[in-house]
Amino acid sequence: MKKPRLLLLNIAVFVITGLIAILLVPIEAYLHGFDWFEIATCITLVYFSGMCITAGYHRLWSHKAYEANGIVRIILAIGGAMTLQNSILHWASDHRVHHKHVDQNDIDPYSAGKGFWFSHIGWMLREYQAHRYSDYSNCRDLQKDPIVMWQHKHYISIMLAANFGIPSILGWLNGDIWGMLLLAGVFRLVVVHHLTFFINSLAHIWGRQPYTDKNSARDNDILAFFTFGEGYHNFHHIFEYDYRNGIKWWQFDPTKWLISGLYYVGLTKNLRRCPEERIEKARIGMQLQRSTLRVASLSNAEEILQKLHAEYELLIQRMTDYYATKKHLMEMRKQDFKRSYDKLELHHRYKELKLGLALQREKWLQINQMLYSAAH
Ligand SMILES: [Zn+2]
Ligand SMILES: [Zn+2]
Repeated sequence: MKKPRLLLLNIAVFVITGLIAILLVPIEAYLHGFDWFEIATCITLVYFSGMCITAGYHRLWSHKAYEANGIVRIILAIGGAMTLQNSILHWASDHRVHHKHVDQNDIDPYSAGKGFWFSHIGWMLREYQAHRYSDYSNCRDLQKDPIVMWQHKHYISIMLAANFGIPSILGWLNGDIWGMLLLAGVFRLVVVHHLTFFINSLAHIWGRQPYTDKNSARDNDILAFFTFGEGYHNFHHIFEYDYRNGIKWWQFDPTKWLISGLYYVGLTKNLRRCPEERIEKARIGMQLQRSTLRVASLSNAEEILQKLHAEYELLIQRMTDYYATKKHLMEMRKQDFKRSYDKLELHHRYKELKLGLALQREKWLQINQMLYSAAH
């Protein structure tokens, strides 16, 4: 079959910026060196422009995981254009197709099923889906956002102004425009390119699948560190409307911290979270599936399987009761004090359920660990 035509402009951009980053930047570093202000600006702009993609293009516009004030949206739109990843409208349209048809090689624009190279960068080097290039019918909501449409219409000028203008002004202030353009302009661009491309490539190849194995997305702490928190991609693909990717407080997700930080100063609102109960049930479902497979190789498989399923059912039941009571209690807390006796009783029951659930969780963990060691 004939390959789609090469996109020469895209190839030229990747090759030229890549060569500048690996050849010219080290030469400049050797001959003239970079001062601390240039290095600090480069790091700051890596984070700034990278997070305009993850917090803006991705979580705000593609997934509508929260809402943001107009000023924040303008900054995210300009910073996103600084990464040279096309307009918000185009990016979000591709990304929504990626989620809806993930791993379907003919539809998913950067399907990981077509290998590392294709999902990382190859998909942008040829005109693979020409018929979709100006079809934004899956982003009608975004077409109502004047900032999205402004950025789409003036994308080239905004992109050029952000990439050349910002580093040039900072370089002029620092007394060396060329050095700043090389480091905070081109080198920064290449770094952000590949860090964000890893989310389509490595985050679908390398890591664990705690929530679902119905698609190739993975959770990976190391990758999360390099992708502004987007490395918790297995969670993201199953609960895509959650503004967090790393749901534990300690999981490195600076994008989540940025969104919630802006919430505390009143610049973002309606941060969406998937209910804890659904997240936990998804994880337990995967554990059951894995343990069921392990049991198959044991001699007394049937007996163990029965026990495993009984413990699973019990855990799910306890979880359902606990979360229902928790919800009831929260609703009651909002009401007046007259029914304080009911509230006390409910609180007591809640505590009991919490303890029961903790014990059952422990038991579940033990049985799964035992099966893991028995099968290894
Ligand atoms: Zn996504
Ligand atoms: Zn993905």
